[in-house]
Amino acid sequence: MGTLLDDLTSGDPTRVWSATSAVVYLRDPQELDDLALHVTEIRRRTKGVELGGALVPNAERLRFALHKLAYHRGRAGCLCRLYPEHLFYDPQKEGAAGNVRIEETFYLDGNWVDGYVCVCTVCGTRYRVEEREYHYTWWGWKALA
Ligand SMILES: [Zn+2]
Repeated sequence: MGTLLDDLTSGDPTRVWSATSAVVYLRDPQELDDLALHVTEIRRRTKGVELGGALVPNAERLRFALHKLAYHRGRAGCLCRLYPEHLFYDPQKEGAAGNVRIEETFYLDGNWVDGYVCVCTVCGTRYRVEEREYHYTWWGWKALA
C-alpha cells in the first residue's frame, strides 16, 4: 500500500493536504480498510501540521477525512451518510463517479443556485441537495425520508 498513507504521515503540509482530499473522495473499500487501520497513527503524525486555508480551515477537511476512516472501520453504514457532514461533496462529481444518481434538478432562489434530488447507488437513500455560495461554493445534503 502506498502513497496515501505515506503522504498522510509525511508531515509535509502539501502532501498531507492532497492525500486528505483524496481520502474524502475515496470509495475503494480495500484502500479505505488499509488506511483505517492507521487512523491513530495518521492522527498523531498530522497533529501540528499547518494546513492553512483562508475561508475554511483546511484542518477541518483533515478532521473529516479521519472521521470517514473511523466510520468506515466501524462499518457504521453507507458512505453516503457522510455527505451531510462535509461541505464539498459536489452532486455532479458524485454522479459522474457513479456514487449517486441525479434524479431531478431544480432551481432555488430564482435562478441563483441549483438544487438536486440524488439517490445513493449503493443503499438507495435519497437526498435533497442545495448548492450554496458564500465566498465559495458548497453543497448541503439532507436525507429524504
Ligand atoms: Zn448510501
